[in-house]
Amino acid sequence: MTLEKSQLNELHWLMEMLHNIDVGLVVLDKEFTIQIFNGFMENHSGLLPRQVKGKLIFDLFEEIPKDWFTRKAESVFLLKNKAFTIWEQRPYLFKFDSYRPVTGSADFMYQNTTFIPLLSSTGDVSHLCLLVYDVTDNAVHKQGLKKANEELAILSQTDGLTQLFNRAHWETCLLAEHKRWGRSQHASSLVMLDIDHFKNVNDTYGHVVGDVVIRHLSSLIRHHVRETDICGRYGGEEFAILLADTSLKNAYVFAERLRKEVAKATVTYNDIDINYTISVGVAEVDESITSHEAWVECADAALYQSKETGRNKTSLHPKQNR
Ligand code: GH3
Ligand code: MG
Ligand code: MG
Repeated sequence: MTLEKSQLNELHWLMEMLHNIDVGLVVLDKEFTIQIFNGFMENHSGLLPRQVKGKLIFDLFEEIPKDWFTRKAESVFLLKNKAFTIWEQRPYLFKFDSYRPVTGSADFMYQNTTFIPLLSSTGDVSHLCLLVYDVTDNAVHKQGLKKANEELAILSQTDGLTQLFNRAHWETCLLAEHKRWGRSQHASSLVMLDIDHFKNVNDTYGHVVGDVVIRHLSSLIRHHVRETDICGRYGGEEFAILLADTSLKNAYVFAERLRKEVAKATVTYNDIDINYTISVGVAEVDESITSHEAWVECADAALYQSKETGRNKTSLHPKQNR
């Protein structure tokens, strides 16, 4: 074989490989008309090379943002440097379907794209090459991981029985609110409540029914609060609600509304009807309350007073009960 013939062969093979490689390959001139369009692009767009050759890329692929693409390409022509776009910045350049029969959770093919300046023998850049990589697997995996982490973070803050905040997370919120109050001095009140004679419920009907009652109360709480209020399960049948931007007087109104709602509700489980009541304590943060722990103690003291003086009632923090 002559040298020329073998070089010709290599060139031919090279062209074959580029045509069949599992990466999109497009060559554009300075006017952004398509010069080369390989098999990957053909397969995913459904367009044949003869249908695209000499056509403006923006006319064929309307999803490509013209201004952004022109700016990016012009810097490649001018600086003779490569440029990149990754799926996290822009999910795709060409809107192709995602062919994933098993892991088909993506609606389209995620892509990373490299812009390569093509130098002529005189050193000019008159064309550029786009290399389009299908990174759908990677993107779907990464997004799944992100979602799982977010769910895990929520789970670690949530009480399993009631889906309210658990004590640890709720206390973190209370600490933050106490600090916020230190800066802004906006009114803010804490409501603590405890089911009356709950042991009787467990002893009479069993623990499962006890759990149903706890869940009933948590859903009533959720129903009564605003979106900005922060509700937590403080202990077994004790709950804590932080009412931001709420004065003692308004917190009392809220607490009484909830208490009365509980008192008139009936929980039905199988054939059992259960009525229950709650005792409530309310404390508004003020200068004398120097920590979030002290704030809890004040609301708890008020709750204790409700218990001591007959239950099924709301009491204010003794020092604030003027
Ligand atoms: P009081 O009116 O003084 O609050 O009386 P009480 O019986 O409610 O008092 P206490 O706080 O001593 O009893 C709480 C009971 O709550 C004891 C415990 O068995 C029960 N308990 C705590 N956590 C759970 C839970 O997750 N599920 C159920 N079913 N019961 C629980
Ligand atoms: Mg109790
Ligand atoms: Mg208790």
